[in-house]
Amino acid sequence: MQQTLVIGNWKMHGTLSWSQKIMETLVGELAGISEKVGIAVCPAYIHMETVSRALSKPECFIRFGAQNVHTKEEGAFTGEISATMLSDLGATFVIVGHSERREAGETDKAIAEKFKVTQTNGLVPVLCLGESLVQREHGETEQVVLNQLDAVIFECGIDALSDSIIAYEPIWAIGTGKTASADQAQTVHRCIRDHLAEKNEVVAKTVKIIYGGSVNSTNAKELFDQADIDGGLVGGASLKAEEFISICKIADY
Ligand code: PEP
Repeated sequence: MQQTLVIGNWKMHGTLSWSQKIMETLVGELAGISEKVGIAVCPAYIHMETVSRALSKPECFIRFGAQNVHTKEEGAFTGEISATMLSDLGATFVIVGHSERREAGETDKAIAEKFKVTQTNGLVPVLCLGESLVQREHGETEQVVLNQLDAVIFECGIDALSDSIIAYEPIWAIGTGKTASADQAQTVHRCIRDHLAEKNEVVAKTVKIIYGGSVNSTNAKELFDQADIDGGLVGGASLKAEEFISICKIADY
């Protein structure tokens, strides 16, 4: 069964009581959704335990993940969180290489290390790739995205991609309300899949490539209908329970 994956990235938003409330709503309203949809939220670290508790009912299949991780498993790294700690807490996913972190100086090498340590600890990396507006306007989209992807393949090997999620997130569409058109997104998703297929056809077929960049309940259907779009990484719209629930229900078709 092909599952459509919807992951909410809460970024640096919310309070403990807000996290608890939105999780109660999501758990209640999404209880009847079919297994054709995979759902997860990525709260701030400090809200994870609250989220984890809300998801602890045995029949609940919503999962949670982190927005970042340190490259090392343990040590004197003040203020950092390790993949071991995330695994201990019951997380499933880790967003790796989000453009907001790349823009803050995260290198391809560090991203590959984070990807590796995430998998070593039994977690699933959600590897974000995406171009800036200037790069798109210069016709560099595919080159930029594939270079970001190759940096991880170089360090971790092509087989590692089979246990990961790729999120194509054009930077110009993140938090701007400007979504890539379904055609624009599909073209890049296809290009990523074709690139993977040159190295390993099984990985290319099985890896999930989700789209992120101003996904909402109005544009989700057209995006999810594309042949190579396997779901969405949702920022702003995941902070509104009704919107996120609608997007998850749209994915359930
Ligand atoms: C994101 O930050 O990953 C994202 C896709 O944000 P938004 O949906 O708000 O554009």
